[in-house]
Amino acid sequence: MRLILLGAPGAGKGTVAKLLTAMDGSVQISTGDILRAAVKAGTELGKKAEAAMKAGELVSDDLIMGIMKERLQEADCKNGYLLDGFPRTIPQAEALKGLLLEIGDELDAAVNLNVPRDVILDRLTTRRTCVDCGAIYNVKSNPPKEEGKCDKCGGAVVQRDDETEEAISKRLDVFTEQTAPLVGFYEKEGLLLDINATSSDAVVESIRAHLAK
Ligand code: AMP
Repeated sequence: MRLILLGAPGAGKGTVAKLLTAMDGSVQISTGDILRAAVKAGTELGKKAEAAMKAGELVSDDLIMGIMKERLQEADCKNGYLLDGFPRTIPQAEALKGLLLEIGDELDAAVNLNVPRDVILDRLTTRRTCVDCGAIYNVKSNPPKEEGKCDKCGGAVVQRDDETEEAISKRLDVFTEQTAPLVGFYEKEGLLLDINATSSDAVVESIRAHLAK
């Protein structure tokens, strides 16, 4: 499957993507994960992205399109992909449309995960992430077996730098201003699948049913 996962930070895009990859061998492509790995490794890309990320702002469209143009042409994309956190602005969505035409790929749907703001805030402040493999935990509902240590790879499970109260609030504002308009964009493209997304398992089921049609 080839899907875009739209939704506010904390809507469950990453969790849903991980569940979906297990279904058909498609790969999860998270621009946030790619950028965090670049920051950790201290690469040129990481240096360019770090300040914006820490403040909860968006990295430039040019930088993101450079990453995605390469990434979407890698061999593992042949079985499909789940775009998690990309596109995030109308210019990125327009550029993605051009890129897909160029490489001869077509999307199955742009899935919008709708989650109430109070649920989002609670999830973001209690979310913890493995610095090595990106596994997602929650201190209340899904803590790692051993505190601070990833069940899957043993890496350190921490709160992301951009999950301070200030950065979270900024990320939600940026989402409303720059990313929420993508729902209208994909509706016009005839690709929108709007889902009430309080439970990730129910989301996966709705997507499966939609694709089977
Ligand atoms: P995420 O893990 O998707 O919440 O992304 C974390 C941060 O990485 C965002 O707050 C942005 O600073 C940056 N980022 C990730 N994806 C994008 C994108 N498509 N466009 C611009 N910035 C991005």
